[in-house]
Amino acid sequence: MKIIQTVKGIQRWSEEQRLAGKTIAFVPTMGFLHEGHLSLVRAAQQCGDVVVVSIFVNPMQFNQSSDFDTYPRDGAQDERLLEELGTDVLLMPPASEVYPQDFQTGIEVEKVSLPLCGAFRPGHFRGVATVVAKLFNMVKPHSALFGEKDFQQCAVIKRMVQDLNFDIDIVVMPIIREADGLAMSSRNARLSPAEREVSLCVSRALNTAQACVASQQCTAASILQAVQDVLGQNAAVRIEYASLCHPDTLEEVEEMSGPTLLAIAVWVGDVRLIDNRVLQ
Ligand code: AMP
Repeated sequence: MKIIQTVKGIQRWSEEQRLAGKTIAFVPTMGFLHEGHLSLVRAAQQCGDVVVVSIFVNPMQFNQSSDFDTYPRDGAQDERLLEELGTDVLLMPPASEVYPQDFQTGIEVEKVSLPLCGAFRPGHFRGVATVVAKLFNMVKPHSALFGEKDFQQCAVIKRMVQDLNFDIDIVVMPIIREADGLAMSSRNARLSPAEREVSLCVSRALNTAQACVASQQCTAASILQAVQDVLGQNAAVRIEYASLCHPDTLEEVEEMSGPTLLAIAVWVGDVRLIDNRVLQ
């Protein structure tokens, strides 16, 4: 596995691959890799001839510096996991390489960035869209893979790719969960054993909602009430949002007609967890 740390270095490597007729599949991450990330890398190996994984904890998308500072990192372990999988290139640029001193450009994806996480994390999706656009210009991939765990992020990236004519296939992969249902996340490492137990209410709430739909009790209000009941059972859980929305526009829905996204964000202690399910 080649490790590249500079913009020029990855651009040169990618150009060579393209000239050799190879297709490039790309998986952007913030590291502290788990099975959710690794599932994207395996899928990328099916999508392209060569696979680039980036690890970059993007300061521009953190709206709280404490969250950036405490974000878990383990470069050596990540390197080992990616090497084992047969990743071709690990792109690990330092922040000064991605954001040189006079950097002043940002990408704003307007409507789809506004609800859900966008409403609680000002500037977050501007940071995400900007860094992903920059990474696309560095890696020049034919396809890029993202996890449905970050459903709104996928919607923002898909919109940006369409609006700005990036010639890149966006592939969205399903959420990988722990055996007990908790969606895998790098942030889970910051949960205490007691908080880890409490966090199960999130996937339980998603399942409860799906059961409501299956039993035809499907007014939006009754589903949200059932979700809040499950999430509210433990005082250690603070609900940031629990919302039913259209899976394409992410606009809130008052009535269920067709597949509907249930998106949840909660705080357990000082760890923020998100999860979602498209209710059928
Ligand atoms: P992150 O390192 O959290 O920025 O995530 C990098 C990529 O991995 C994003 O496309 C995420 O949506 C995806 N991802 C994170 N957790 C999971 C998961 N549990 N299942 C599937 N994909 C995931």
